[in-house]
Amino acid sequence: MLKNACTVCKVVGLIAIIGALNWGIMALFHVNMVEQIAGMGMANWIYMLVGLAGIMLLVSFVYVCPACRKMKPA
Ligand SMILES: [Zn+2]
Repeated sequence: MLKNACTVCKVVGLIAIIGALNWGIMALFHVNMVEQIAGMGMANWIYMLVGLAGIMLLVSFVYVCPACRKMKPA
């Protein structure tokens, strides 16, 4: 899904992946990677970005981004 995506969509996808992986790691190993790497203060900002990325991905179910639409499938 991100293979033929524009840079913006790739970044959005990547942020969502970081959020998803962090959640998975937290459940499995009880280690919060984001808080370990970024620190408690910064982690909140990253969670906000993850939430924003989630909203953008949700929107992408019904709305194809114009930059992606222009890109030809490989
Ligand atoms: Zn796009």
